[in-house]
Amino acid sequence: MDHPLDEQIAWACRILGMDGQDDFTLGHVSARDGDLVRMKRNGIGLDEVTPADVLTIDGEGRKVAGEGRVHLEAVLHTAVYWARPDVGAVIHTHPPYGTAFGATAAPLELLNHDAVLFKDGLAFFDETAELIVRPDQGEAVARALGERNVVILRGHGVLVAAKSVPWAVYTALTLERVLQIQAIATALGPLRPMSAEMADRVYPAKYRDEFLPTYWDYLVRRVRRAGLAGGMPPSPAAGAS
Ligand SMILES: [Zn+2]
Repeated sequence: MDHPLDEQIAWACRILGMDGQDDFTLGHVSARDGDLVRMKRNGIGLDEVTPADVLTIDGEGRKVAGEGRVHLEAVLHTAVYWARPDVGAVIHTHPPYGTAFGATAAPLELLNHDAVLFKDGLAFFDETAELIVRPDQGEAVARALGERNVVILRGHGVLVAAKSVPWAVYTALTLERVLQIQAIATALGPLRPMSAEMADRVYPAKYRDEFLPTYWDYLVRRVRRAGLAGGMPPSPAAGAS
């Protein structure tokens, strides 16, 4: 019997893979499990993760259970869980728009409903573009993240921190879409973002916990329909609750 979090993490990986966030076998998803962390193992693509490919690691990123190797950048995850008791899931990927955005001086603009998820702004980490493999580097990224839900790792990729796996996936997909729309809009002409006041009005209607199970179940169905669920348990996922 798979741990429910392992199945959720595996679906998260499949969904991110379907969204084009696979980068060879790099990129990872984790979830907090009490004092431990459950995390995709090294050596396989996001689009091929099964619940059996989720490792259990301790607060220092050392493997406690599971088959396979821990990702070098596990400290990215553990440092964020240490620093942010409210965070239940972390995603680190190198997606095209998020990574390209990090290579510019552009701010995120509030151009549509999706962007309102980031109305409090994105965080940026520019101390180094190296892999984050040492605890002090992980702590520096967690400091840069602060209380936000995204930190852009300049020259590297993105890190998303959220209360649950479905929220983390939703945030990661939405971030990439927001930056894609901003890239298109920037090419079309001068930007006309909405005001901060308008964003505050849009947010409470658009972003609610009760919407997440519907989004999550839809994304799982999409993976299945696309024929990208090979190796996953046949039963529907439990949802976002
Ligand atoms: Zn990375």
